Amino acid sequence: MDSRTPRKIVILGGGTAGWMLAASLTKVFNTRQTSVRLIESGEIGIVGVGESTLPQVRDFNQFLGLDEVEFMRETNATFKLAIEFRDWARKGDVYFHPFGTHGHPIEGVPFFQCWLRAKAHGHHFNIDDFSYPSVASREQKFEFPSEDLTSIRSTYSYAYHFDAYLYAKYLRRWSEKRGLKRTEGTVVDVTLHPENGYIKSLTLASGEVVKGDIFIDCSGFRALLIGEALKVGWEDWADWLPCDRAWAISCGLDDEYFATTRCTAREAGWQWRIPLQNRIGTGYVFSSRFTTEERAREVLMENLDGPAIGDPRLIRFRSGRRKTSWYKNCISLGLASGFLEPLESTSIYMSQIAVNFLMRLFPEQEIDPALAEEYNRLVDIEYTRVRDFLVLHYHASGERTGDLWKHVQTMTLPDSLSDKMEIFRRRGHIHRYKDGLFSPASWIAVYTGQRISPGGYDPQADNISLDTMLKTMTDLRDHIASNVATMPGHYDFVRDYTHSKGAAHV
Ligand SMILES: Cc1cc2nc3c(=O)[nH]c(=O)nc-3n(C[C@H](O)[C@H](O)[C@H](O)COP(=O)(O)OP(=O)(O)OC[C@H]3O[C@@H](n4cnc5c(N)ncnc54)[C@H](O)[C@@H]3O)c2cc1C
Repeated sequence: MDSRTPRKIVILGGGTAGWMLAASLTKVFNTRQTSVRLIESGEIGIVGVGESTLPQVRDFNQFLGLDEVEFMRETNATFKLAIEFRDWARKGDVYFHPFGTHGHPIEGVPFFQCWLRAKAHGHHFNIDDFSYPSVASREQKFEFPSEDLTSIRSTYSYAYHFDAYLYAKYLRRWSEKRGLKRTEGTVVDVTLHPENGYIKSLTLASGEVVKGDIFIDCSGFRALLIGEALKVGWEDWADWLPCDRAWAISCGLDDEYFATTRCTAREAGWQWRIPLQNRIGTGYVFSSRFTTEERAREVLMENLDGPAIGDPRLIRFRSGRRKTSWYKNCISLGLASGFLEPLESTSIYMSQIAVNFLMRLFPEQEIDPALAEEYNRLVDIEYTRVRDFLVLHYHASGERTGDLWKHVQTMTLPDSLSDKMEIFRRRGHIHRYKDGLFSPASWIAVYTGQRISPGGYDPQADNISLDTMLKTMTDLRDHIASNVATMPGHYDFVRDYTHSKGAAHV
């Protein structure tokens, strides 16, 4: 036995989180030294609405060695270049949060500062026009980013929309083929070691007792191990993120699918629209403090983009995170560890990054508190970063009316966000993090899209001749537009690619 690895790892839960972890452990650990067993209950099922992702999911697929064409066929995936926000600061507004930057530095000055200076001189360029993936999204085009780093076509990345049920099944087949042991069953009891409170075993409805050294809680919102058995508390963020319900449904495609997730602000929340190859996934995220379930259902059904497939499903949730994600010999992942509404498609990423941290810090036979502490610290940073970014969307909702919007426009912000907004308002500067999601380009997209304007700009921008700066900006905008015009349509691209017997491009 290799003394650096635990003997028995038990994963409870076979949603996206459980299967992402199971596949990773199967890939990394030698099955002769470590046994990994996943327990899931078909009776309970999975949440299964996680359909919009971030580009990092490609790293995960690549790490497993999945073939992109096969993966896309198996999960009905389409490509994603951006999130399109509609009606957020003002009715009729449309802006993109793209997977890419806006422009490039001009004479060493960051592009955004040049854009601000142009604006201060009365030149109101649409910032989306300087983002290759935003323009491609608007024109419903797609192609893979160029590997030539000097090309404008290399300035973006992409993610996927996929069917989360099918993705979990796909990872299951992949893992089982490589030796992972899966047990169908419902856990009805959890036994703790009397001397130290560690989890000793899980009892299934069949009567079988499953013992383990490390238990991973991927049991979803119920958090059967970390929450119910070990009583680790939940930090509630509902004051900042008051949405706590979603109606979700699929509808038929009435048109070609395009490469954006659309998030449209509604009277007490917002509606997502995620195009897959065979259907549209859509849903209304709302706050039960500010509307009723019946009214929310009506709003969703009035705003479908195609014929409804079945009836809408109500999902209840709480925004927040587990106070400690790794406690004793239990590590929680996915919804058991935290949830932030899907406005920026971050949940699957949160599972993925937690898996990455865990691979680096995986416990040996004895639990090392220093590793657990570091894991918890890293996970906390990720949640806090995403929380602040989501809160920004709500808070900066400008002219929207209604009780929810009034609440979020006037609420007290987390200090970590109000400090960032203050700096942005002064000079348009954005703090670059060492860890955690969302680069300055993402913040710029959302600040400008939500009509938050800095009062000034960096004086460095005044060192460039205004004419030179404006010409460079105009040329860049035209260069992007003319390149995008020659790209294939997203719909045709997906159809041709997923029917090709091509090489993987993950
Ligand atoms: C409305 C909504 C929209 C979302 N949209 C997105 C999105 O666009 N993008 C994104 O990245 N994420 C999204 N998410 C989040 C995404 O759905 C989850 O992050 C993802 O599905 C991970 O879920 P999970 O695996 O933690 O839990 P689940 O999918 O709930 O899986 C829990 C598992 O635990 C098992 N289980 C539970 N109790 C027991 C028991 N007693 N015995 C045995 N097994 C048990 C269940 O059988 C199941 O297999 C969304 C979530 C919601 C609520």
